[in-house]
Amino acid sequence: MSEQSVMSARNIVTAIPGPISQQLHVKRLKEVSHGVGAALPVYIDHAHGALVTDVDGNRFIDLGSGIGVTTIGHTNDELVKAVQEQVSKLTHTLFTVTPYVPYIEVCELLNKYTPGNFEKRSALFNSGAEAVENAVKFARKFTGRGEIAVFDHGYHGRTNLTMAMNFKAMPYNSGFGPFAPGVHHVPMSYPLRDGGITGEEAAKRAINYMEKRVGAANLAAIVIEPIQGEGGFIVPAPGFLPALSAWAKANGIVMVADEVQSGVARTGRWFATHYEDGFEPDMFTIAKGIAGGMPISAVTGRAEIMDSSHAGGIGGTYGGNPVAAAAAVAVLKQIEAGGVLERALELETILLSRLNELKEKHSVIAEVRGRGAMIAIEFVEPGTLNPNSAASDKVVKFCHMNGVIVLNAGTFGNVIRFLPPLAITDAQLHEALDVLAAGLETL
Ligand SMILES: *Cc1c(COP(=O)(O)O)cnc(C)c1O
Repeated sequence: MSEQSVMSARNIVTAIPGPISQQLHVKRLKEVSHGVGAALPVYIDHAHGALVTDVDGNRFIDLGSGIGVTTIGHTNDELVKAVQEQVSKLTHTLFTVTPYVPYIEVCELLNKYTPGNFEKRSALFNSGAEAVENAVKFARKFTGRGEIAVFDHGYHGRTNLTMAMNFKAMPYNSGFGPFAPGVHHVPMSYPLRDGGITGEEAAKRAINYMEKRVGAANLAAIVIEPIQGEGGFIVPAPGFLPALSAWAKANGIVMVADEVQSGVARTGRWFATHYEDGFEPDMFTIAKGIAGGMPISAVTGRAEIMDSSHAGGIGGTYGGNPVAAAAAVAVLKQIEAGGVLERALELETILLSRLNELKEKHSVIAEVRGRGAMIAIEFVEPGTLNPNSAASDKVVKFCHMNGVIVLNAGTFGNVIRFLPPLAITDAQLHEALDVLAAGLETL
C-alpha cells in the first residue's frame, strides 16, 4: 500500500550499506584498527528519538540504542540544551583539583534513586568498565580482602581486570591475557538451561562453589548483573539474588550490582534491582543509559564503603566531566519528573505481546524474557535446547537490510535483544517488529 510507505518511519533508499557508507568503510579499514569491529557498517550522520539516518540518506528504526545508551532518546531536547549550555560555560577543571556543581548533582540524584535505605556516596568515572574496576577497589579497600566472585555468562568490560571478570573468551578476552588474578567464576541461575532448579537451589550451588573454591572469609565482593546484558538478558530465577545477598551480608562480603546495562529506567524501574525483593546490594555500577551517550559512569554505595579510601585513591582526569555530568543531570531529572519509567513499561507490554505471538508461531524461539524495554528472544533448534545462532544471525541480518537496527547477544550468540530508546513511538515499535516477524518467516 503506497500510503503505508508514506507513513513508514523507515526509509531505505540504497543497498545496505549504501555507496557512501561503503566508501567510508574502505577508508576506515585503512585508518582504523581492525580490532574495533562493526556489526552494521552504515555510517550514521544524525539521529533523533528512535530514528537514525545514515550518510546515504537511509533511515533506520533503532532497537539497540547503541547498546542501551540512548535510553532517553537520540538528541533528546533537554539533554542537548543542557550540554550546549554547559559546554559554553565550562568543559574541564578536574573535580579533584577545583570542583564544580554538576558532579555533585549527579551524585545526589544517584544516591537518592538507587535502591537501599542507607547513607550513600557516589564517585564518577568515564566508562562502565572503569566503574566496575573502582567498585572492586572500594570493596577490597573496605574489606581488606582480595578475592572477587563473578558469574557465568556475565560481562563487565574490556580492561584487564574486567576481562578477567567476563565469561566469554571470544571476542572479549581471547589472546589478551594474562588477566588480573583473584577473580572466580561461579555458576549463574539461567532458568531456560537450568533443568527446572529453583532460584534458591541455584544460589546454593553458587554459594557452595564460593565457600569451597574461594572461602567466604577471602571474598571482598560478589559482582553480578541483576539481568545479564551481553549474556542475553538472563533474568535469574526468583530467590537467587536475595539468597546471594543474604549470604554476602552474613559473611561481610560487599554485594555489587552491575547495573551498567540494566540501570537508569531501562527496565521500567530506576534500577533492575528494584524488582528483586530481598536483594540488597551494597554498591551499584552505573553507566550506559545515564547520559544519552555522553561518557560518564558512576559507583554508588554505602557511605562507609565509599569513604574507606584515602583521599586521592579514587579519581581520574576526566571522571565526572562537567559536560557529561550536565547531560546525566538532564537524563536523571527527566526520569524524576515522571513518565519515563511508565514508558518503559508500555514498551514492555508491546514487546512481550508481539514477541510471545512470534514464539507461538516459530518453534526456533525458545524463550521471550527480560523486563521493561530490555527484552530478548533466545533461538534454538526446534524441539531442543541446542543454540541456533544460524537462525538468529539470519533474522538480525534481515532486520538490518530492512531498516531496523537490532543487536545479538548471548554466550552462544543465539539471542536477539531489544533495547529501544524510550522515545520510540508505538507505531515505530510495531513497524520494527513487523520487520522482525517478516525476518522470522524467511527461516
Ligand atoms: C557495557 C557493560 C560494561 C562495560 O561498560 P563500558 O562502558 O563499555 O566500559 C560493564 N558491565 C555491564 C553489565 C555492561 O553491560
